[in-house]
Amino acid sequence: MNLLDPHGRRINYLRLSVTDRCNLRCSYCRPPGMDPEPSSGARLSDDELLFLARAAVGIGIEKIRITGGEPLLRNGIARLLSRLRMLPGLKKLVLTTNGLLLAEMAGDLRRAGVESLNVSLDSLVPDRFVRITGSRLQPVLEGIEKALEQGFPSVKINVVVMRGVNDDEVVRFAALTIGRPLTVRFIEPMPLSGKDCGPGLTVPGEEILRRVRERYPLTPRERESLGGPARYYRMEGASGTIGVITPVSCHFCGDCNRIRVTCEGFAKGCLFSARDVDLKPYLAGRDAEGLMDTLRSVVGGKPTGHRFLREGRRGVSVDMSRVGG
Ligand code: SAM
Repeated sequence: MNLLDPHGRRINYLRLSVTDRCNLRCSYCRPPGMDPEPSSGARLSDDELLFLARAAVGIGIEKIRITGGEPLLRNGIARLLSRLRMLPGLKKLVLTTNGLLLAEMAGDLRRAGVESLNVSLDSLVPDRFVRITGSRLQPVLEGIEKALEQGFPSVKINVVVMRGVNDDEVVRFAALTIGRPLTVRFIEPMPLSGKDCGPGLTVPGEEILRRVRERYPLTPRERESLGGPARYYRMEGASGTIGVITPVSCHFCGDCNRIRVTCEGFAKGCLFSARDVDLKPYLAGRDAEGLMDTLRSVVGGKPTGHRFLREGRRGVSVDMSRVGG
């Protein structure tokens, strides 16, 4: 079934946030002292998340990414994932994590049927990792190893590249793909107002690729089916790939294939859309038809492009921990 938005884009991807709690305080996402620890008695229950996912698949969603906050902090996450995995029609179930709890949970995630993992990792230098995130690097590295050991064929590492903070590590990160089945994706920081991520931090994707190319020849790769906005390359002789995600320097909205739902049940047609659509009444009333119509209307209301395009780079207000990146 093809679910098209009014701009002709095929929408088949749902990013579903399952918690707003996080065990990191990344400077560009939720810096220390800025936001109160979110209080949320309003997070969707497992049954509500399943009902929602079933409706989403019913209108044409084929891939669901579980995100947060930190999804591995949600109680019973492995069981929720295995229930989601059983939804008929769902082609891909994937998860994004900061990796802190991954070493102990990788086996459960694999057995639950999660197909691939994205791990956020912004520095390979222990002190620097602490400065950026407020936590230790070693558990994340162990988590990535454990995920590979547990049979995940590959792990994607997401690096938010910030000028003067970690951009000197680009080549070192890229080199991780030489002997390991890793995909390292370099992401331009999006200017979110109130967060430590102004436009001065952006290292454009083209500059990142140029720096890697100075060391290693790069060959462009095909985009993945059901993939996101990354452009991929392989370094000569490498087992893994590198990619760039360029929300700031090179908008990819023309290829957008996604909608989002926050952990409290608000749907968003765009990460930056001001209009959140409350799905809870349909979830509380177990109104599948109403829910599917409402999700279709969210797809129908998707803007052509995100607000950086219209508002420049002043910074847009988004609570990433609720929405899930
Ligand atoms: N806790 C999980 C994690 O760390 O991957 C999932 C949630 S986190 C909000 C999802 C992604 O959003 C992470 O890869 C993070 O780096 C990214 N993110 C958060 N704020 C960002 C920003 N200002 N610009 C670019 N990416 C951002």
